[in-house]
Amino acid sequence: MKEILDTIVIGGGQAGLASGYHLQKKGLRFLILEASDQIGGSWPSYYDSLKLFSPAGYSSLPGLKFPGNQNRYPQRDEVIRYLQDYKSKFELPVLINQRVDLIEKDREGFVIRTKSGEIFKAQTIINATGSFNSPFVPKIAGMDVFQGDTLHSSEYRNSKPFHNQRVVIVGGGNSAVQIAVELSEVSRTTLAVRQPIQFMKQHIGRLDLHFWIKLIGFDNFPFWRFGKTAPSSNAVIDTNRFKDRITEGNPNQQTMFTSFYESGVIWPNGKKELVDTVIFATGFRPSAPYLKLLGALDEDGMPLHKAGISPVPGIYFVGLEGQRSFASATLRGVGSDALFVVKKILKQLK
Ligand code: FAD
Repeated sequence: MKEILDTIVIGGGQAGLASGYHLQKKGLRFLILEASDQIGGSWPSYYDSLKLFSPAGYSSLPGLKFPGNQNRYPQRDEVIRYLQDYKSKFELPVLINQRVDLIEKDREGFVIRTKSGEIFKAQTIINATGSFNSPFVPKIAGMDVFQGDTLHSSEYRNSKPFHNQRVVIVGGGNSAVQIAVELSEVSRTTLAVRQPIQFMKQHIGRLDLHFWIKLIGFDNFPFWRFGKTAPSSNAVIDTNRFKDRITEGNPNQQTMFTSFYESGVIWPNGKKELVDTVIFATGFRPSAPYLKLLGALDEDGMPLHKAGISPVPGIYFVGLEGQRSFASATLRGVGSDALFVVKKILKQLK
């Protein structure tokens, strides 16, 4: 008979690792199940040129400082190394190649089955699977007849395949703008937006934005105590002169097109334009279908929770956008949410 653990953490990204750190500190018996074959969460799948918008000094998980100059903006691969070092330093029990695809409940607790056929048992579950594996693409008229390429920003790696193309990027957030500026070096690129892009300065005075949002208390303001999810900001953090580039018109921004036709898109003034590729930088949705039958998701598949605590006893979440605060789904913010959830688990198990 398999040992019944206190907790199974699903997902070995930053949210899962931070949860593991606190579970270990509290002396709980747990395992972290990770679907992929490496540590690093979704960071290895983010585009090649990605630089953090948070300085190293605001990108640490609990117990291990992000290395190097605290004012610099680390590259994607440094985050992957940091997460691997984090797992090693605390000897966190992560099992890779273990994609959870079914969870049932019996008298003793949760029975967790993975795609590879393994079965685990635990009294509680922390779901820390992020949302990157569930890209959101809006439905747009004519999409099915368009003969060019469409992809989601999660599939974008670098500008190589797009040389000399006409590219439209749907979206006006950080990823959309960063990808558009990179692509505009090699292709004719337009951002298709619902509203004009808003910018937020990376530096106010000589200090990074993160210093100020922490100082005024916004970063950790407990929206959940007022029955609310923390707001997410649509403003683009203006590093690398993104605003200047868009003001200069390379890339340019245009009001969102109304539909596709075979060879391109139709703009609101009715003008048709030939387009090679449309990239959707339209975000993500959490996805944990195995929680559906347990009653932990709403009709749209979104987690039901208050501050990461499901109405279904024994189920918890870490890493959801706005879960407890503005910083919940970031490197700097996920640790305190993990601690909050682990304390609730301790209380439940007593
Ligand atoms: P993920 O990193 O997505 O990890 C989830 C893990 O769960 C993955 O390893 C996945 O394989 C695993 N998994 C999924 N399903 C299953 C399953 N069924 N069974 C087992 N395992 C499963 N944050 C910052 O703090 N600073 C930044 O500068 C920053 N920049 C960002 C830039 C981009 C382009 C994006 C998309 C996000 C950025 N973020 C940033 C936000 C956030 O820090 C990252 O999205 C981070 O990857 C979220 O971590 P996570 O652990 O919650 O999810």
